[in-house]
Amino acid sequence: MMLTWKDVINFTVNGNPNPPFRVEKTDAEWRQQLTPEQYRITRQKGTERPYSGALCSIYDEGQYNCICCNTPLFDSTIKFESGSGWPSFTQPIEAHAIKYHKDSSLGMIRVEVLCNSCDAHLGHIFPDGPEPSGLRYCINSESMTLESKTDNT
Ligand SMILES: [Zn+2]
Repeated sequence: MMLTWKDVINFTVNGNPNPPFRVEKTDAEWRQQLTPEQYRITRQKGTERPYSGALCSIYDEGQYNCICCNTPLFDSTIKFESGSGWPSFTQPIEAHAIKYHKDSSLGMIRVEVLCNSCDAHLGHIFPDGPEPSGLRYCINSESMTLESKTDNT
């Protein structure tokens, strides 16, 4: 099933799909596990500077997992060069991997994208991506780890 902007809006209004599993830790545990920058972005809804992320211009085959709980979020087949300065994807790896929240901060309405298992802030989603889905998941490098397929060969 391919998600569209209509599905995304529907999730923000009527609720998100159930996650595959839940990971809950205390603030002190997250601080201990993550680097200060990873903590700032994922647990405090921060944003990395554009073009600063390690995964921004990497197109190796593999799977992008949540830096906090290791849940698979995206894969390299749905990554594309958006020119925005952040890793960009057109779909999640599975619909229930991601949750969506309406975000009214900074004086505009946007849709925030979070890990559905541990609530890590990942980035935002916009309806200006390439066809057929028309979606652009704009994700911070620091919120993900790339599990490269070439690691095992
Ligand atoms: Zn997570």
